[in-house]
Amino acid sequence: MEVKSFVGGAHIPHYKSFTEKLPITKMSVPKELIIPLLQHSGAICEPLVSVGDKVAAGQKIGESTEYISAPVHASVSGIVSAIEPRPCYDGGKVMSIVIETDQQVQEFECGEKRDPSKMSVEELKECIKEAGIVGMGGAAFPTHVNINTATPIDSLLLNGAECEPFLTCDHRQMVERADDMIAGAEIIMRIIGATKCYAGIEVNKPDAIEAVNSRIQGRTDIEVVPLAVKYPQGFKSHLIKAVTGRDVPRGARSSALGCIVRNVGTTIASYEAVVYGKPSIERVVTVSGPNVPKPGNYIVKIGTPIGHLLKECGVEDLDGFKVIVGGPMTGVAQNNLDAPIVKSNTGLLVLPPDMVWQDEAYSDCVRCGKCVDHCPVYLYPNQLSIYAESGMLVAAEKCDIMDCIECGICSFYCPANRPIVHFIQRVKPQVNKMQRERSKKIS
Ligand code: SF4
Ligand code: SF4
Repeated sequence: MEVKSFVGGAHIPHYKSFTEKLPITKMSVPKELIIPLLQHSGAICEPLVSVGDKVAAGQKIGESTEYISAPVHASVSGIVSAIEPRPCYDGGKVMSIVIETDQQVQEFECGEKRDPSKMSVEELKECIKEAGIVGMGGAAFPTHVNINTATPIDSLLLNGAECEPFLTCDHRQMVERADDMIAGAEIIMRIIGATKCYAGIEVNKPDAIEAVNSRIQGRTDIEVVPLAVKYPQGFKSHLIKAVTGRDVPRGARSSALGCIVRNVGTTIASYEAVVYGKPSIERVVTVSGPNVPKPGNYIVKIGTPIGHLLKECGVEDLDGFKVIVGGPMTGVAQNNLDAPIVKSNTGLLVLPPDMVWQDEAYSDCVRCGKCVDHCPVYLYPNQLSIYAESGMLVAAEKCDIMDCIECGICSFYCPANRPIVHFIQRVKPQVNKMQRERSKKIS
């Protein structure tokens, strides 16, 4: 078996054993759901309901007229109890529709099964758009925009790398829902005009490789590509390089290389949207950590507060622990457990003090060069962190700060515990603003 990869990156502990063998199960529905009107890249939705309205499961409750946006839907039946700013996992507040769920909760019922082969490409695209499907691996870019490309595309890449430690939601979906993933891939291939689909899966998921391979016996249009276990194997440009050998130049879109990359969950959600008319109202979330009494991969209704999820998983005492939404490398630490799960949240981790970085404990760069050796996009994170910490925006720009993919490898390796990626994240918006103002002056 040929195993593919990219040059650079890091071998980091997986911590997948807490949940990788646990079948996907359903999480209970909370008394209150909080549906943010912005869960995607692009324009925020306008509410389509008012306080006091009764809503049905799957009903569209917010949308925007802007092209780059995605509608939001009620995850279950209930009454709209408020429309107001509520905390979001990224630390800010977002205008949200709050739903008091019915005592006898009504779940979404799939419509009559539709045959995608009898639908036009435009109809397929419209189903995905109306369902509010966005990139569920973390990017949250609206899928109908992503797959609506004028550039010729030859390959669809299914991203089954799931290279972040702890996370196993994609792994379990590949094992348990391989048929739906392949059916979703066929729909997307038709839309984008791709003749080939590669499912890139890291070799630490042999059961997922076997599950997908068993469904594509004898086919030449879909192929499983085993990938080395290396971080950040699942980042778009690294996946494309590993699978196709094509280099993605800095700043280029993957479509320019003839590729579209789709996450496993997004592909399954696209299938459900087309075949059953199911909107994006739930997702699989990995809840994990060494001290979580009931870790697992749970189907969680969009809008479920993080606190509800933790309670249902038996987590009571959080003293000294860090709660992270997403993976430990790119996730976001939480200080408000009222924030809801949204479409792009892959995981919810509860990490003990010895597994997390303590912010007061960093020192000056000791110039060991480890961050430079491991940066997967060949930057100088040591210099970037110094420039970013000192607010030297022009110097940071010259050192290509905007090319940082925020993978966190530099911080992981730094013996001085420097929060390099946090410094970079803090300064990138300022550099971006500086660049926009400069181009305005020029034009
Ligand atoms: S500088 Fe950016 S891309 Fe490079 S290792 Fe650090 S976070 Fe990753
Ligand atoms: S890993 Fe840390 S100490 Fe070493 S060069 Fe990079 S920033 Fe400096």
